[in-house]
Amino acid sequence: MARRPVNPPATGWSLTIPPKIWDRLSDHVLGSAARGAVLLAGLADGPRGPRLLARELILADEGRDYIPGEFGHRALAPTFVRDAVIRARDEGLAYIAAHAHLGLDHVGFSEIDLASHERGYPSLSQISGQVVGALVITDHAAAGDLWLPDGRREELAETIIPTGNLLRLRSQPAEEGRPDSLHDRQARLLGDLGQETLRRLRVAVVGLGGVGSILVEELARLGVGELVLIDDETVEETNLPRLVASGREDIGRLKTEVAARNARRANPDVRLIEIARRVERPESLEELVRCDWIFLAADGDAARHWVNGTVQQYLVPATQVGVKVPLTPQGDVGQIHTATRLVLPGSGCLWCSRLIDPTRLAVDMHPAGERDAAQYVPGVPAPSVITLNTLAAGEAVNHFVFAVVGLHDEENDHASVIHRPRTRQRDLQEPRQDPTCRWCTSTGRLGLGRKGSTPF
Ligand SMILES: [Zn+2]
Ligand SMILES: [Zn+2]
Repeated sequence: MARRPVNPPATGWSLTIPPKIWDRLSDHVLGSAARGAVLLAGLADGPRGPRLLARELILADEGRDYIPGEFGHRALAPTFVRDAVIRARDEGLAYIAAHAHLGLDHVGFSEIDLASHERGYPSLSQISGQVVGALVITDHAAAGDLWLPDGRREELAETIIPTGNLLRLRSQPAEEGRPDSLHDRQARLLGDLGQETLRRLRVAVVGLGGVGSILVEELARLGVGELVLIDDETVEETNLPRLVASGREDIGRLKTEVAARNARRANPDVRLIEIARRVERPESLEELVRCDWIFLAADGDAARHWVNGTVQQYLVPATQVGVKVPLTPQGDVGQIHTATRLVLPGSGCLWCSRLIDPTRLAVDMHPAGERDAAQYVPGVPAPSVITLNTLAAGEAVNHFVFAVVGLHDEENDHASVIHRPRTRQRDLQEPRQDPTCRWCTSTGRLGLGRKGSTPF
């Protein structure tokens, strides 16, 4: 298959479609030019404009729901449209009718399409009180015509599918990116448009300890434009051997402050948001839900739970990075492993993969003072070594870079990577999904956006 164009993030309205929904949509409408579907979508604020979050796909059956139109072409049957619009109204979701055109890198609505929007959408928008509109796709491009409840009409700037290669589809490929002499050597691999993509991204790092400090250093040096740094702890002496670019003078300082200084040193142009709070605080979540990607490098089930909720409800992809050193009280070393886990919207979540323990989550949600008292077994500091952290962090950032500039071979590779340095094995782990999950499915919070409560 031809490589898709690399499109840097665009400013304006966007539509994000979880990979499984995109696969079903494109199988249905791209297979034949005469099939349609409707997406129901939540709404959220994004880093560059309002975001529509596809949550559910309703396929129109050929012959019954998708029929020869009165004005030539084919069209969705009136009963199908009515049922979908009423659901959109009742559930407070946007209604977006989708169909496909032939072509590859360019797509746009036909005269017939536009005339039918003008006839139909003002009344659909009145009935539902929500955003209504249309999406037209090819395998490499997408265009959207949105009608807002206040009467304004907007074009969709981009359609995002956070799959193995994070796809950003526009109506036509982006113009060449601007050359960047500082990043010349890496742009030779990533392309000027790839470099431009990094510059426009807003990425969060949750947890700024051993793993997080490496992530921040690498993301800043790569030229990621904006970093959201979240950690409520201060630097202790025992952190120093693993805290990249730190020194004794940093003891007692906030980890956010140290990370921000290092990021600025690595890239003076980087924009920084420092949040010295736990991730579940409203100040943290408010920033997290407006990111393009989240790196989760904090221990603890609370951080996992809230980042997982953000991924699913706001369709922001994340990478969880962790290192496990099993050690018995006698000092026997078990199978050390590092995990770089991809958490993608609607493709199985940390709850489905049993990576959040409800009991530990309950303990972790206590205020700091009560947390230790609530532990059944007093905590012993876990072993931690910088080389293990770099192994996991390097894998995580490399995956992210390849994903956002479309360099992965396999589009649908959503596997996590488990390294076992003692045996030098590297395994791939597919995510698991419970079809009734409250988080990562259309019956749960997937794509609800700001309509669902936050904190979750
Ligand atoms: Zn059309
Ligand atoms: Zn799930």
